[in-house]
Amino acid sequence: MHTVKVILSSEQIQTRIAELGKEISAHYASVKEPLVLVGVLKGSFLFLADLCRKISVPVEIEFIGVSSYGEATESSGVVQITQDLTRPIENRDVLLVEDIVDTGLTAKYLLDNFKTREPKSVSLCALLEKPAQNQGTIAIDFCGFQIPDQFVVGYGLDWAQKMRNLPYVGVVE
Ligand code: 5GP
Repeated sequence: MHTVKVILSSEQIQTRIAELGKEISAHYASVKEPLVLVGVLKGSFLFLADLCRKISVPVEIEFIGVSSYGEATESSGVVQITQDLTRPIENRDVLLVEDIVDTGLTAKYLLDNFKTREPKSVSLCALLEKPAQNQGTIAIDFCGFQIPDQFVVGYGLDWAQKMRNLPYVGVVE
């Protein structure tokens, strides 16, 4: 049986999300049309759900699916869209919501892809960043926490599809 060492408690996560919600609301205070929040499946589903309730400007919710590590814990560097947005984002303010930026390859691919659809603006929000891995690949506009380069689970993040429902972020021991 595996045990999980907590590195970010539920309380820490919720406190930081409230702060991010305020920052994002202030940044997009003058938008004319709702801000489009795009959650990256599956890992960002809890973060997006909590974050959107801390944002006070009007929002629309979209999801995008990408191929991930599969059952392995190493980045393949291969990114593929497995489920696309349901609506055009032309002339819209778009905020990509990621669970974690590791190498940054996924976020960079998605932001570059979104830019070809001619949005008004496109920015990145990530709950977690591993700065040791993301060495200048992508700039995160709204970042929750920077963490060491270790494989984390919980709060949406999986370990071979399991443990996404943990209310905290931890490391499997
Ligand atoms: P990147 O393209 O930035 O290297 O990786 C992004 C994706 O890899 C994340 O959206 C997530 O699905 C997965 N990932 C990266 N690091 C971790 C980790 O520590 N734990 C888990 N569960 N997934 C991770």
